[in-house]
Amino acid sequence: MYYDEAADAVLNNLNTSEEAGLSSGEAEKRLDKYGKNELKEEEKTSVVKLFLSQFKSFLIVILIAAALVSAFLGELVDAFVILFTVVLAGVLGFVQEYRAEESIKLLKSLTSPEALVLRDGKEGKVPSSLLVPGDILLLQAGDRIPADARLLEALSMKVDESSLTGESVPVEKSINIFPPETPQPDRKNMVYTGTSVTYGRGKAVITATGMSTAFGKLAGLLGEIERDKTPLQEKLDQFGRWLGTATLIVVAFVAILGIIEGFDPFEMFLWGVALAVAAIPEALPAVVTVGLALGVRRMVKRHALVRKLPSVETLGSTNIICTDKTGTLTQNKMIVEKVYANGTLFTVTGEGYKPTGDFFRGDSPVSKDIHLHKLLVTGTLCNDAGLVEEEGRWDIMGDPTEGALVVAAAKGGLWKAVLEEKHERKGEVPFSSERKLMTTLNTSEDGLYAHAKGAPEVILAACTKIFLEGHEEELTPERKQEILGIVNDLANKTLRVMGFAYRKVPEDILPEEAEKDMVFSGLMGMRDPPREEVKVGIATCTSAGIRTIMITGDHKTTAFAIARELGIFREGDLVLTGTELEGLGDREFDEIVEKVSVYARVYPEHKLKVVEALKKKGYIVAMTGDGVNDAPALKAADMGIAMGITGTDVSKEASSMILTDDNFASIVSAVEEGRNILKNIKNFIAYGLTCHIGLVLIVLVGVLAWHTLPVIAVQILWINLITDGLPPMALSMEAPDRGLMKQKPTKAKEGLVSKRMLIASLGLGTLIAVQSIWVLHNSLSNGVPLSKIQTLIFTLVVISLMFNAFNWRSERYSVFSLGIFTNKSLIYAVLSTVLLQLVAIYVPIMQIAFQTVPLSLSDWAMIIPLASTTLIAMEFVKYLEWRIHR
Ligand code: ATP
Repeated sequence: MYYDEAADAVLNNLNTSEEAGLSSGEAEKRLDKYGKNELKEEEKTSVVKLFLSQFKSFLIVILIAAALVSAFLGELVDAFVILFTVVLAGVLGFVQEYRAEESIKLLKSLTSPEALVLRDGKEGKVPSSLLVPGDILLLQAGDRIPADARLLEALSMKVDESSLTGESVPVEKSINIFPPETPQPDRKNMVYTGTSVTYGRGKAVITATGMSTAFGKLAGLLGEIERDKTPLQEKLDQFGRWLGTATLIVVAFVAILGIIEGFDPFEMFLWGVALAVAAIPEALPAVVTVGLALGVRRMVKRHALVRKLPSVETLGSTNIICTDKTGTLTQNKMIVEKVYANGTLFTVTGEGYKPTGDFFRGDSPVSKDIHLHKLLVTGTLCNDAGLVEEEGRWDIMGDPTEGALVVAAAKGGLWKAVLEEKHERKGEVPFSSERKLMTTLNTSEDGLYAHAKGAPEVILAACTKIFLEGHEEELTPERKQEILGIVNDLANKTLRVMGFAYRKVPEDILPEEAEKDMVFSGLMGMRDPPREEVKVGIATCTSAGIRTIMITGDHKTTAFAIARELGIFREGDLVLTGTELEGLGDREFDEIVEKVSVYARVYPEHKLKVVEALKKKGYIVAMTGDGVNDAPALKAADMGIAMGITGTDVSKEASSMILTDDNFASIVSAVEEGRNILKNIKNFIAYGLTCHIGLVLIVLVGVLAWHTLPVIAVQILWINLITDGLPPMALSMEAPDRGLMKQKPTKAKEGLVSKRMLIASLGLGTLIAVQSIWVLHNSLSNGVPLSKIQTLIFTLVVISLMFNAFNWRSERYSVFSLGIFTNKSLIYAVLSTVLLQLVAIYVPIMQIAFQTVPLSLSDWAMIIPLASTTLIAMEFVKYLEWRIHR
């Protein structure tokens, strides 16, 4: 039962050690015994099911019925060909859906969480699925708890158990022992799968994993990648239904007319079914999913992990990006450059995390200074980061801000490990973005001391004294002003400034109570250089009609200086602090929100306010975040973006996208990919539309005006199959073109295809139809046999559509300027389609099936130039547009 036993007994029972954890060998054995730490998922659609589901559509059923009718009437060849195309269409659909499915699975495996555990005496991250009972978990604020566990340590630890109990107030945890009759929600020394740490830290031993956990017993599902239909897919569905109904009416009408005109009723029926199949873009939704999924894969390569497919579209229409500063715009590689103590400003030399460097007062090096010493001790003890050397390279573990302090102290000859041994930590109040302060209680030779560090104004508010000339003196308002002046100077130089204080405290004090009457010991200013790619990224956003807004917990002056350097802040913009924001009424804030480009010293809840105000104005807002308390803002934003490296599990779960490198530039790449995916999808929809319009026109005009079937039913099916198959997939792989990040974002409400695309598809479809009708008319007047005419038109349509595929690589740019061979997939797709067409007209058995006759060279000499006019016409229009807009 664990919660009613002493921690030692629990550890004994589970045969593990609090200090070293399990050995890797033992963990492996237990994994075999207990299985993976996973909740059983709903049954996956099996491959067979997926394949069979392709044959469920209404049209396919009609086609199968048509095949049966043909067989019944003795038209075995027709029956066979129809079935053949049905199966082939099924296979194609299956392949596409399977690929989409695989991409989604891949995404899921990429987003699967990790946990920090002790194994073989070392801390390390382990995929949560490999955790076993007996593992020692290290938990901190923002972590999703990966298994049920008994707490061994709990430092101000609070856990949000709403997913389990529905109770929204976080539960304070403890390590007390509880009587056996305690109901589950009150067993405060236990933590449960699926809940998350909102505050503090803890250590726990895993007692149950997978389906044996309390959550597993409830058998809910967590962290599923959502697969809602995207707005585009919904529009496509609507469009398909509309087109379907319209076609069915026209087809029925013409078929009846045909029968009245004396065509064979059975032939008309087959023809009607084939035309309906050709006119309805039933394959498009699957192709769109593949398009989205392929794009998502490309995004992964560019460090952006999309968790929900619809977000890809949102990315394409995003017009405001609200971003954190530290780590996203900057490198998060902090180095302490300036130190202020005893009224003196010191300069610190050295590079990176290497702990070699010196302290200078003006030009002269300083070797010993009691004030510096006090400041560095506080910075090191009130600190959870570590400094490690591996193969001559120095690196830090933990928060870079804290790491920089450890490095600075080491440069002054104070090593963290040594200090910690001498000054044991007895208690702490952890850092949070709201408090902007952290305090620890550490022992010393003359008793217990509190050490605090945090935002300078917060530290100053907790201080009444200052350490000057070896004494603790009163911190007068003048002295405070002087210090704030120094803070401002340092911040103006883009340094991140932190204040430090200490105090001797009674042995029995609670950590929270120590944060007053403190002695101010100094400031440290650290440099966090902007990431190199960010400046270009912001400029790209500006030219793409996207505004970048900085929202940071850092000081106003530092934030402003960096925003100006990066081009986020421009003349006429406003900078607002969290406090100023709070002072504004909703209406006042709404009035200025569009002018603010920097928010500084904000609390996470301010982020929500900003998102809501911007959304109210109709913007599509992307927002980054990493902490536990950023979750509401991430959820409220159209596009919540979490940090892959520094982000908490909770923020990741609330987001639609995760940046695997925490880099702002990756958001820009993702937006570009998002736009590209949308562009490609629209292009291949337009391509498909051209095909369908062309085909329907040809047949309608042929039957109504020339009383001839220009192509027969099985040929229509074939055209539909091969033109809907590979070329759209290839079009979805088209690379971004140069204009993509120079256009304004697409409006979220914009239709499936723009008006101009619709006109272009109509025009091209008509062109293809006119050519075919011309061939029909000419051949009929020259007495060419019908099967030859049909073969000519059948082939002409397919080849025209292949030329047309090149048109839709870009709505605006000439294929020649894109480079004819730059989309290799399209070249292969077109070659394969042409090859299939050759098979259909030259292989004897196919000639029987499709009622084709072989074409001569002179036939080809007519078909190819005619078909190429599709490309020439569109190139000409693109050229004219370019001339006009130049
Ligand atoms: P961003 O929101 O852009 O990531 P940030 O990292 O500065 O910026 P917070 O982490 O909320 O935002 O930090 C706010 C302030 O709290 C910092 O400017 C700093 O003064 C102080 N601070 C940051 N980290 C610590 C820490 N580990 N201990 C104490 N104070 C800290």
